[in-house]
Amino acid sequence: MIKLSRNRLSDDVVKKLEQSREKYIELAARKLPIPDALATAYNRVEIKECLINESAGKCMYCEGKMLHVDYGDIEHIVPKNLGPEFRYSYENLGLSCRVCNGRKGGFHDATSPLLNPYCDDPDEHFLAAGPMIVHKLGSDRGKITKVKLELNRKDLLEKRAERIENIQSLFEQFSKSKERAIRKVLFEQICLECGSGKEYAFVVRAYAQAIVSDNPAVFNEMKIEYY
Ligand SMILES: [Zn+2]
Repeated sequence: MIKLSRNRLSDDVVKKLEQSREKYIELAARKLPIPDALATAYNRVEIKECLINESAGKCMYCEGKMLHVDYGDIEHIVPKNLGPEFRYSYENLGLSCRVCNGRKGGFHDATSPLLNPYCDDPDEHFLAAGPMIVHKLGSDRGKITKVKLELNRKDLLEKRAERIENIQSLFEQFSKSKERAIRKVLFEQICLECGSGKEYAFVVRAYAQAIVSDNPAVFNEMKIEYY
């Protein structure tokens, strides 16, 4: 999980969400059935596109890319059944893979909610131990999020290990290369591999930072920048 930020939704779509919320409240007050089209009025192409842009097509929780095999779920961070304000609030939506969405289900704890990468900084709650994500001592929310979403499930560990091995190979090439121009290109590649749009950037960044910190003479004040 890495920090995410919001893009701006068009005024037109914001207005439509607000109208849907008002209609929902009106029907519920009169104890009338809610049509499916109204109940799912948050599921709009513009909204999905905006969410995909914000997370670079990755699950907001596990950082896996799923759009090549799945549509990706529009996830309600606070479950939509807890009120129409959560159902139609764009700030309560995110892109999630089906596994994380299923693991989360209707879970919500107002005292210790799951980490929300749009509001919380995952770096304050998690550490990477190789391909594993561990919660920081004292972070109950980190622990609950890790356990509830099963952030160290077997498939994720395998994929994260592959990403770490790939960047390890770039570091090996960098350390063996004497040519300044080649070293520069390799370091740029290393930075790209740490970028927000890349899968499992959280563990890849942690690995890259550890290597650079451990070898100050080799990297000669080069700093990893995230794009
Ligand atoms: Zn996921």
